Amino acid sequence: MSTLHNPRSTLHALEPMGRGTPEVESLTSYFCRLAYSHGITAQKLADWVLAHFEQSVCEKYGWHQRSFSSMSPESEQWAAWLAALTGVGSLDQHTLAPWRTVLGVPGLAPKSDRWCPCCLAEDRESGGEPYLRLAWDIAPVTVCVRHKVQLATTCPHCHRANVRNRSAVVVPGYCTSCGGFLGDAETEPATPEALWTARQVGLMLQAPPKVASEGLVPLLETVIKRMADGRASAFASRYGFSKSGISHWLNKGGIPTLKAWLTIGLHGGIGLDKLFAGDVDDWELPLTPIQMSIELPESPRAGIKSRELDWDSIRAKLQAMLKEPVAVSVHEASERVGVDRKNLYLRANIETRALADRYLRHRASIGEQRQARLQAQIGDVLDERLAAGYEGMSARDIWNRLDTEAQSVPGIFRHISQVIGSRRT
Ligand SMILES: [Zn+2]
Ligand SMILES: [Zn+2]
Repeated sequence: MSTLHNPRSTLHALEPMGRGTPEVESLTSYFCRLAYSHGITAQKLADWVLAHFEQSVCEKYGWHQRSFSSMSPESEQWAAWLAALTGVGSLDQHTLAPWRTVLGVPGLAPKSDRWCPCCLAEDRESGGEPYLRLAWDIAPVTVCVRHKVQLATTCPHCHRANVRNRSAVVVPGYCTSCGGFLGDAETEPATPEALWTARQVGLMLQAPPKVASEGLVPLLETVIKRMADGRASAFASRYGFSKSGISHWLNKGGIPTLKAWLTIGLHGGIGLDKLFAGDVDDWELPLTPIQMSIELPESPRAGIKSRELDWDSIRAKLQAMLKEPVAVSVHEASERVGVDRKNLYLRANIETRALADRYLRHRASIGEQRQARLQAQIGDVLDERLAAGYEGMSARDIWNRLDTEAQSVPGIFRHISQVIGSRRT
């Protein structure tokens, strides 16, 4: 497979996305984009990598049946192999492997593949490559913090589940079954509670933990000391843990699950990033009741709670606006139907996007018309002076003869030079 070679590294040194942020890319996603960049299928790349490292595989290795983003040694192995082949270091940061010493396995892997349609749509609209976030592969995360919506699980086009990356051929962001764009999926607003959880996991994903396996018991002892004066049984009953579970952590090498850490973070008023960095010296317990802190963020549904909205009729109204002779902006549509823009995007996504798109194109065409008018005006001034016997004019002379509206157009001197230039040829 000679096409895989380049002078610097065996495989393309593809830049991983979102490193050091809550939106860090998963290794699964990186692997698919890497295969795509080489013009081969993900399955073929998996086979090639295994052959390269002389791994004998008895049966056909179904790459998509494996997890590349989990805490498993297999994920870590793939991160190391891909790092060696691409020359891109620390690819294990795109798996959960670095958290193996502090996070228990139970409840970590989601039952089906999820994604935030708004993230994928934004990736595509910004001209970038859609990619899959590591956070989407962590079960307690059910919403997107950035867009405040629930993660989607089924393709909006063929309505199948598990169509994100479970196939030999994968283009992140597109359905592996029908090829439709997964960013088209409609989704519901997130609850404040789910947002809090997702935000905590996002903080956690920004940097690998600093607490090593031998640091886990001292950290847990500090937690119990701060939250229950060091009394393990009081800690267990106060925060809903089993006493045997706590004893397992402290004496038998047990590791708390993510859910347990979230409970500690919530009641202790401390972020998972701080806990896993061992940054607990100036940790102070919150004085106010905890329930308050998760009710405070404004619910995206706040605006629609007070009344029941008939979304079928709102969608019909939006569709009618799309047929009006003059393009209607989302702002205007929102005022006309009495629903804020965010909820229009959430509940009538296709219609609202179509309105936004049409309005944008309308604005662009107005801009083009204005520019054509301006160039004609400059041309007229120039013709007039040439007819009066002048050989040419400076851009400044022409500017002096334009009306005030034309004079204030951004980049006006560029327009003038363009017209002068076009007359010379
Ligand atoms: Zn999102
Ligand atoms: Zn589909």
